[in-house]
Amino acid sequence: MNGRIKSSYKDALNAGRITARVKNASRKWIKEGVLISDFADKVENEIIRLKAKPAFPVNISLNECAAHDTARVNDERVFSEGNVVKIDLGVHINGWIGDTAYTVEISSDRYKKLIEASNKALLKAQKAARKGIELREIGRIIHEVISGEGFNPIYNLGGHPLMQYQQHGGFIIPNYDNYDKKKLEEPLFAIEPFATNGDGYVKNGSRAFIYNLVSEKPTRSMISRKVLTFIRREYNTLPFAERWIARKFKLYKPALRLLTGEGILHAYPMLIEKTGGIVSQHENTILLNDEKIITTEL
Ligand code: MN
Ligand code: MN
Repeated sequence: MNGRIKSSYKDALNAGRITARVKNASRKWIKEGVLISDFADKVENEIIRLKAKPAFPVNISLNECAAHDTARVNDERVFSEGNVVKIDLGVHINGWIGDTAYTVEISSDRYKKLIEASNKALLKAQKAARKGIELREIGRIIHEVISGEGFNPIYNLGGHPLMQYQQHGGFIIPNYDNYDKKKLEEPLFAIEPFATNGDGYVKNGSRAFIYNLVSEKPTRSMISRKVLTFIRREYNTLPFAERWIARKFKLYKPALRLLTGEGILHAYPMLIEKTGGIVSQHENTILLNDEKIITTEL
């Protein structure tokens, strides 16, 4: 085991355990008619109640949106019949992250098979994960399971290593055989298959509700300086929601716009399936040590 992760092993494991608990609790909170913003508050407050912090805003992405949507400022949307909802949540302790996702369909089961496809792919891929496995082999397994169910994986999304205060570091664990012969040596990583009845590619949407700090350049205006100081202290380099900033700063909109324009913040646009396909997603975090631990399952 690598020394850096050894000292952080406990934090990564505990973060994963809390992620799993909140995930399990949250399954009961998704119901037809529930306000998406109430659901988001509940998830994030539960993480804090369990003495950890959200590693990123809970992603609540509907239908053809694969990822990076969340509750918005004054969001009036409710979960509605037939919505295919991806819940992607993360918890961190001292920057060590548990990252997990699941999909549910509200009050119907038209997309049961699609939802099962990404889950089956995850189960098979995490079973195969071991030190030294080629990344392409994990991708091959995911693709095989999903295409066997009659769907496409999302080819331009994938799993990733989890480093301290870095949700996406280093390389991609593909959702298809991309010929990457690189061997899996990272001790902490997430596998996240997406399945779709569309062509299997996401594009950036036009709106972003999630940001993170990417540069330490100085900013020019007073208000963006204040917001930046807050962001650095509260979130470090981890992603945060526009609505979190709106709670503290009336002028959150111009501040976020300025900081993004200056290249100090990165905005994460919503990711939309290009052909309008419905998307499902499942994800777990895995700690590969002397033994293999799926940290985000109890
Ligand atoms: Mn995730
Ligand atoms: Mn992830």
